[in-house]
Amino acid sequence: MTSAASPSGAVAPHERAKPLAKGSVYPAKDLCSQCGLCDSRWVAYVKDSCAFLNQRFDAMEAAAHGRSRDLDNEDELYFGVQQRMLTARLQQPLDGAQWTGIVSRIGVRALETGLVDAVLCVGQSEDDRFTPVPRLARTPEEVLSARVNKPTLSPNLEVLEQLPGSGIKRLLAIGVGCQIQALRAVQPTLPLDELFVLGLPCVDNVSRQGLQTFLESTVSSPDTVVHYEFMQDFRIHFRHSDGREETVPFFGLDTPKLKDVFAPSCLSCFDYTNAGADLVVGYMGATFGRQWLTVRNPKGQQLLDLVEAELDVAPVSSSGQRQAAVQQGIEAYDKAVKLPIWVANLIGFFVERFGPKGLEYGRFSIDSHFTRNAVWLRRHHPDKVEAHIPAFARRIISRYRLPD
Ligand SMILES: Cc1cc2nc3c(=O)[nH]c(=O)nc-3n(C[C@H](O)[C@H](O)[C@H](O)COP(=O)(O)OP(=O)(O)OC[C@H]3O[C@@H](n4cnc5c(N)ncnc54)[C@H](O)[C@@H]3O)c2cc1C
Repeated sequence: MTSAASPSGAVAPHERAKPLAKGSVYPAKDLCSQCGLCDSRWVAYVKDSCAFLNQRFDAMEAAAHGRSRDLDNEDELYFGVQQRMLTARLQQPLDGAQWTGIVSRIGVRALETGLVDAVLCVGQSEDDRFTPVPRLARTPEEVLSARVNKPTLSPNLEVLEQLPGSGIKRLLAIGVGCQIQALRAVQPTLPLDELFVLGLPCVDNVSRQGLQTFLESTVSSPDTVVHYEFMQDFRIHFRHSDGREETVPFFGLDTPKLKDVFAPSCLSCFDYTNAGADLVVGYMGATFGRQWLTVRNPKGQQLLDLVEAELDVAPVSSSGQRQAAVQQGIEAYDKAVKLPIWVANLIGFFVERFGPKGLEYGRFSIDSHFTRNAVWLRRHHPDKVEAHIPAFARRIISRYRLPD
């Protein structure tokens, strides 16, 4: 990693720059995902680094992993550069984590073993469980208190502003695709000796206001929800503050109301599986109840080594056929169909039993989101379609019939 000072002794752009004023219009305008880059002096590089102004998957993958993905290899086409894919659970799940807590446990071990000086993670505001507060955690306790998703746009990169003078030289950054794309782009200018990147897959994120609309249209008691996840059984699982679990079938969502709820950044994103991370930890390629891990490079394996002895590990598996369900979903979404709940439950029952599982579920979700986003982009930002949809996404999208 290089330091901030340029070899010629000239002042680097970020040393002259100031964060943008909160509330101002950011350069990506309506497509901004509030990743936080513009809330730091590294806004100096926003034109080239912002995921919504400049797509640079090939360059990012080559710099981070030594090569870009092999488009003729179906696993890489879908899930990105990889040296290993597996499914796992922490043998002793972390109470209150989003799944079993592998991400938080890696953060804790990275600090305990001295691999890094700090972990970039996302806590929550004191007043609202869903308002994200990014931080540079220096202790295992701080990492642990950041466990569980804050399912809203989070300005993770604003904490870069705290790096100069902090003494932090080795950093583990946890984040979603848009945050990691910008982080990778400015990586050579950061005052760090070492950067590890632990990525989360991500789709359909929302602003805090959007989350409220989603909860109010979907769940029985929006104010008591403390945790939710779209899971591999085609249902959304909500946990309430009294411990009660409630599930809603995907096919029962109020599509007419929810079409506009997702952030425009997410409706134009094709980095679902976090292409730039060293290690990705999600759930979408695993069977129900397990987590899914993709090791992209040796640094990713180094992160996994921190916890592998504590995991119950299994190979990835795949079954079912996604294509017909994806094609039907494209048409139903476009017509904004809202199904009666008994029909939604019935479809959910059959899809769960006979539908795609494991990696095929992951491909189902990627196909559904990439096709939806391609249509959205064509309708809302036709001028961006050419530059914005990466080659791997184009190949996937070309397998389906899209509405005009
Ligand atoms: C907005 C969002 C959408 C996601 N969508 C998918 C998906 O579609 N498919 C899939 O397979 N996986 C998805 N994930 C990842 C998945 O839900 C779990 O976060 C992941 O499997 C890790 O689980 P865990 O129990 O190990 O995490 P935990 O140990 O509970 O740790 C969660 C970590 O998430 C970080 N975090 C919380 N909120 C945010 C945020 N808004 N932005 C960035 N980082 C955050 C925290 O810093 C914490 O370190 C998503 C995650 C987020 C945040």
